[in-house]
Amino acid sequence: MTEVQTLPIPRGKLEINRKWCKGCSLCADACPKGIITVDELGKIQVRDPEICLGCGQCEAICPDFAIRVEKDEKTG
Ligand code: SF4
Ligand code: SF4
Repeated sequence: MTEVQTLPIPRGKLEINRKWCKGCSLCADACPKGIITVDELGKIQVRDPEICLGCGQCEAICPDFAIRVEKDEKTG
């Protein structure tokens, strides 16, 4: 089982480190799309990555660096 889960989003990807996530749900509260939930294991799940804005608010608020947003358009 891999620790880092990669999810495709429009023009980029989300990287979730399930080992580092402590389930505080700060990112879930910050997400403007409301697509992040904390599962019964105390780890986040992103339900609808296809509507993710790539806004980076989840990454910015996470105290444990457990979620990263990578956008294709940033290159160059
Ligand atoms: S803010 Fe970070 S540690 Fe907290 S639930 Fe989200 S990904 Fe996990
Ligand atoms: S990048 Fe923005 S829209 Fe996508 S999961 Fe994070 S907070 Fe939600």
